[in-house]
Parts: sequence; C-alpha cells; structure tokens
Amino acid sequence: MSFKQLNLIQPIIEAVNKAGYSQPSPIQTQAIPAILAGKDVMAAAQTGTGKTAGFTLPMLQRLSTGEKALANSTRALILVPTRELAAQVAESVQSYAANLPISSFMVFGGVKINPQMMRLRRGVDVLVATPGRLLDLLERRAIKLNKVEFLVLDEADRMLDMGFLPDIKKVINKLPAERQNLLFSATFSEDIKALCHTLLNDPIQISV
Ligand code: AMP
Repeated sequence: MSFKQLNLIQPIIEAVNKAGYSQPSPIQTQAIPAILAGKDVMAAAQTGTGKTAGFTLPMLQRLSTGEKALANSTRALILVPTRELAAQVAESVQSYAANLPISSFMVFGGVKINPQMMRLRRGVDVLVATPGRLLDLLERRAIKLNKVEFLVLDEADRMLDMGFLPDIKKVINKLPAERQNLLFSATFSEDIKALCHTLLNDPIQISV
C-alpha cells in the first residue's frame, strides 16, 4: 500500500515524501480512506503509531477544497491535553500543509493570551488547542466555532484524566451540528465510550 493508492493529492504526497515516510502505517491505511469519505472515526491508537498523520493528512485534503477561514474563525479544531502535544501536532500540521494554502496555529495556556488573540483575528484554517485556553479565548470572543467543519480529540483519555470533560462539553456546545468528528484514544474507558456516543455519528472504529 502506498500513500498514492490511498487517493491523497499530490501536494500532500510531496509533504509525506519530504517527511521521509515510505509507506502508510496501519492506522493511516485504515483512517485515511474513512476520513476522506467524510466518516466520523473512533480510533484506539497509542503515540508512535503515526496517528497524527492519520487524521491530519485526510483532513487537510478535505479542507483544501473549501473556502479559507473567516476572521476570528477556524475550520478545524484539534483538541489536545498538553502544550507539549499541541506543539508536536501543530508542527506536524504545518509540515503536512506546506504545499497547500491552509493556515494553522496553536494556542495553550501558561503564556500571554494577547498574541494569540491578535493572530486569531485573521482567522486560521486549523487550530490546535488545549481546552482551558480555548475556553478563555471563547469567553473573550477571540474565536468563534460556528464554522468548524472538523473536530479532532487527540489523546481523549488523557484529556479526561486531566479533568477536561466539562471544558470539552462546553466547546462541543459551540460547534455547528454538521461537522466531521475524529476521536483518538489509547484506552477506551466507560467515560470515553460515553463521550464517543454523544459526539460521534455512526463512526468507523479502528484499532491498531
Ligand atoms: P505519532 O504516532 O503521530 O505521534 O507519530 C509518531 C512518529 O512517526 C512521528 O515522528 C511521525 O513523524 C512518524 N510517522 C508518521 N507516519 C509515518 C509513516 N507512514 N512512516 C514512517 N514514520 C511515520
């Protein structure tokens, strides 16, 4: 199996080649066709499986055909538990989107909020965020979520362990009903299953 056989477009294939990946990992082989087809996905995957490219590559491809983000708006929201993961995911998104007209940005707590608010004014196609700082930005009206086409919960189990469930629910309440949802978690506790049940619409289930 090759990335080309997964029907990824040339600008994305070139980014993957530049990253040095010779073939898709098992989670990528399963997740990419499902996400390109517009399905919700629930995936059991640890770090190191290539899950980030698994959700980012097809998401970027779907975003590449639409209109750019409006001011103070985002088209794809990736929620992550920690600033370290935010930085890793944002770096991946940026490198995979290098040949596409898609902007990305990350926000997390513990740093000044003003520069983040300034950048969000222009709008951003893909926003990587930790839940607490995102809520803060929402309360300050620095970001609107009514144009979100994709919601990704990365390391959902860690977010729940860190007590982010109420924040995640507040965020979900701000999203439009029509959107694609992707949930990645290393483990599937009853709490995660309940979240999947409320969040995901007829999901494709993947485990690697
Ligand atoms: P992740 O599980 O998303 O944290 O990715 C783990 C590591 O695998 C990252 O350093 C990626 O750059 C790398 N990676 C992702 N996809 C592939 C692939 N298809 N082939 C080789 N390495 C990959």
